[in-house]
Amino acid sequence: MTVRLVLATHNPHKVDELRRILGAQLEGIELVGYDGPEPVEDGLTFAENALIKARAAAAHTGLAAIADDSGISVDALGGAPGIHSARYAGNRDDRENLELLLANLAGRSDRSSQFTCAAALVVGDFEHVEVGVWPGTVLLEAAGAGGFGYDPVFQPAGHTVSAAEMTADEKNAVSHRARAFGQIMPVVRDRLL
Ligand code: IMP
Repeated sequence: MTVRLVLATHNPHKVDELRRILGAQLEGIELVGYDGPEPVEDGLTFAENALIKARAAAAHTGLAAIADDSGISVDALGGAPGIHSARYAGNRDDRENLELLLANLAGRSDRSSQFTCAAALVVGDFEHVEVGVWPGTVLLEAAGAGGFGYDPVFQPAGHTVSAAEMTADEKNAVSHRARAFGQIMPVVRDRLL
């Protein structure tokens, strides 16, 4: 007997990462994909946008839903691209996004940045959000072929390689997404099981 939980994302990288991250915490829970309408993400924070996505998937399916919203925030750019990370260069192209980020940071010595992930759970009227942060710096040039998005230009604090040079297991032990979902899974299990 399993309980179904909709994962409100159309991003296959995230689905893969989440299945690996959640592992045993999914025992008794069947994580199902979502192919319903995507809501307008007009929130001003990662948390608001995660909730907008989870609410839409819960309303469309009638099931419990989780969603995440994430991105990279760069101190010297006033927190940009932040919630606009996926479309920073205009069209959801990971390579163009990271190249624009490198161009906008050219000549800047402060390269402090952080990935943030907000994970939201909606079960009927119940709503809950957890936020995970992964601090680091933006490299001078891209390195590594793993991961996705800005991973090749992000060096996590305490590491000497980019996130794209880490194994999936290394990244998933410490990333913003691992932190946010690690925090929300006890709430999910408490509500659903
Ligand atoms: P979202 O799908 O609206 O949450 O957009 C997240 C965007 O932020 C992605 O398209 C990536 O560009 C970036 N991003 C989020 N998490 C990561 C990560 O773990 N590595 C690299 N880029 C990420």
